[in-house]
Amino acid sequence: MKVLVINSGSSSLKYKVFDMPSSRLISKGAIEHIAEPGSKVVDHHQALKIVLEQVDGIDLIGHRVVHGAEKFRKPAIISAAVIKNIKQCCALAPLHNPANLAGIMACKKLLPGIKQVAVFDTAFHQTLPDYAYIYGLPYYLYKKYRIRKYGFHGTSHEYVAHEAARILKRPLAKLKIITCHLGNGCSITAVNAGKSVDTSMGFTPLEGLVMGTRCGDVDPALVTHIMRKVKLDCLQMDRLLNKSSGLKGISGISNDMRILEAKAKAGNKMAALAVEIFVYRIKKYIGAYIAAMGGCDALVFTAGIGENQKDICRRIHSGLSGFLKKPLSVLVIPTNEELMIARQAYRLAEDARPYRIGRRALSARGGENV
Ligand code: ADP
Repeated sequence: MKVLVINSGSSSLKYKVFDMPSSRLISKGAIEHIAEPGSKVVDHHQALKIVLEQVDGIDLIGHRVVHGAEKFRKPAIISAAVIKNIKQCCALAPLHNPANLAGIMACKKLLPGIKQVAVFDTAFHQTLPDYAYIYGLPYYLYKKYRIRKYGFHGTSHEYVAHEAARILKRPLAKLKIITCHLGNGCSITAVNAGKSVDTSMGFTPLEGLVMGTRCGDVDPALVTHIMRKVKLDCLQMDRLLNKSSGLKGISGISNDMRILEAKAKAGNKMAALAVEIFVYRIKKYIGAYIAAMGGCDALVFTAGIGENQKDICRRIHSGLSGFLKKPLSVLVIPTNEELMIARQAYRLAEDARPYRIGRRALSARGGENV
């Protein structure tokens, strides 16, 4: 079966095609600068048309959808009701979900009759216990507006946790794993027995680690203080926290860790400070998650920094084994969110197939599919 995986962003549409269940990558590509001034690609519909000229014989489509809120704990086969629910999550991810939906709608038009599955970045973290996802705010804000920790990068954390168990040749159900996704966006997750039990990103991807341009954890009182002092409105403050902070804001040089590492080695003090803060924040989270899980068997590094910058990773995990009872396995595992999406879409589509002989044949759902 050929599964097309679509990651539809505001100005790009990336895709990979996998043969399932073998997981073999057949092709991949990206259409960029969608709807940007001067671009020939005016919308996602046109971008998908270009993609479909390059791939054929698609049997199933998997879409990355950033926010599924509390509505989606698992991947979902796309229907009118699912589209309505994804639309309702747009308020929580105004930059991402509308773009993801544009990809879904383009596929509906251009590939009618092909089953589509939505796989949510937030779904893996829906197993967090309430004491980990409720903020110390008035509880009605959660009840009325669903303000809580959601967490992101879930597909990546889930993928590398599964890979870690496979590499260690141990059942995931028996492992306590801390997964560090360190790219431009950075997050860290405590995975106990295959379930996310805590994660550093929050209501939005701004919380937690110091990232390329995002500040991560700060005292919330400084937001209104800075707005008054520097005379910034909400939009400007939002931009400061998301786009001008983190490694870029501290160093005043770049959000690119390769540049900062090289500059720090060459003696630049601000680059060195930015790297030190980055490393220290991750170390603190690892300590917290070891405490939360009562131990840790494996620490996993993934994404641009995690997969390539060995010195940074070494600084993060140095000294950790000292206070653990059991030896800690440190693994570098390239993430593959698209493959995870293909697998989940394939599994869901197979489970939903009527008249299957075997596992769930003519199943518990009775005649529903017949
Ligand atoms: P994202 O997907 O979140 O945009 P990436 O996973 O590509 O980010 O990671 C980007 C970060 O990883 C940057 O800080 C970059 O300097 C660092 N990095 C280090 N080595 C590489 C590499 N070989 N390729 C891409 N990014 C790298």
